[in-house]
Amino acid sequence: MGDKPDQEYAIETLSVRAGQVRTHEGEQSEPLFLTSSFTFKNAAQAAARFKGDEPGNIYSRFTNPTVRTFEQRLALLEGGERCVATGSGMAAILTTCMALLKSGDHVVCSQSVFGTTVTLFQQWLSKFGVQHTFVPLTDYAAWEQAIRPETKLLFVETPSNPLTEIADIARLSEIAHRHDCLSVVDNCFLTPALQLPFKFGADIVIHSATKYLDGQGRCVGGAIIGGDKLLEPMFGFVRTAGPSLSPFNAWVFLKGLETLGLRMEAHSARALAVADWLQQQPKVKRVYYPGLPSHPQHELAKRQQKGYGGIISFEVEGGQPAAWKLIDGVRIFSITANLGDAKSTITHPATTTHWRITPEERARAGITDGLIRISVGLENAEDLKRDLQQALKSI
Ligand SMILES: *Cc1c(COP(=O)(O)O)cnc(C)c1O
Repeated sequence: MGDKPDQEYAIETLSVRAGQVRTHEGEQSEPLFLTSSFTFKNAAQAAARFKGDEPGNIYSRFTNPTVRTFEQRLALLEGGERCVATGSGMAAILTTCMALLKSGDHVVCSQSVFGTTVTLFQQWLSKFGVQHTFVPLTDYAAWEQAIRPETKLLFVETPSNPLTEIADIARLSEIAHRHDCLSVVDNCFLTPALQLPFKFGADIVIHSATKYLDGQGRCVGGAIIGGDKLLEPMFGFVRTAGPSLSPFNAWVFLKGLETLGLRMEAHSARALAVADWLQQQPKVKRVYYPGLPSHPQHELAKRQQKGYGGIISFEVEGGQPAAWKLIDGVRIFSITANLGDAKSTITHPATTTHWRITPEERARAGITDGLIRISVGLENAEDLKRDLQQALKSI
């Protein structure tokens, strides 16, 4: 990339420059290789590529230069050796499990993870004999007690969705390593711009690129980052089973990464202003945002993160009817379950993202009927507050 090893550049520089390879056309922006396969100069070269004697592209299920640029850039941003891109965040989690687990193995997972992650463990991986235990995110004794001889992975999402609880990554990684397990961190809510799990001992980082890496709500994609050797079976699974990232989406994510640091700072500043204001509203019972001194893990968030991100949850008086009225009353916020977009979004977790889990599980995870999750976008914070204020009047 320049005159020193890539790892020594700052994150802002890597976001814009890392991994770019120019073609003979000398293009300024990263080229989009929208091709399913690649041609060979002759039969001998084809044979050498297939045997792996000669590096190079073969077929876009597992070798595409645009996807590779995205992988290299994200690996450098996270401070990991290697990245394997996938067609979605869920495909990244599935690929990690398929690569590292076999029938009889066990995973300990924080209970307030992304709803579909819960479904993946409960409904699909269990079919193949992969067992799991869900534990409260911040109860480290529960993590340790849940570990069995068959446990291979500790899977954690921090901050959690939707309650923004913070896990101590160093502490969990230490527990994992003491029991010969790997620690896996879903870094979707903060991205490498605000949190670097490898610095705290994590072994694998997972992304839904759909969220902040894109940042503008356009494409679905995912990624796994980790050590070169550790990721070899993930690459092998994607190559064989095909949950691959499309080159077009990789190209969109590359454009998203260029503004990642700026966006995450702006999301964090606006979210802090909105969360602080929400705390003062009489119809709001409770606000969950790690940037507020009232958040139970505020000090940990300060140590572990470079910022607090754009996700806020809050509970209104009056349960589901009031929550739905507020959601129906907003004019700027989009009613959608997606997050990490330049456009602010609003959702009711109990009846959307977390509807599949049982009411008991929801209660245990603290997802009440009056809970609302917002993803603060890049609009003006005063406009967002005014929008919430007029909607709060209707409940
Ligand atoms: C969205 C999300 C996922 C799943 O990603 P997809 O790209 O939707 O498959 C996983 N983890 C978290 C924290 C998410 O927000």
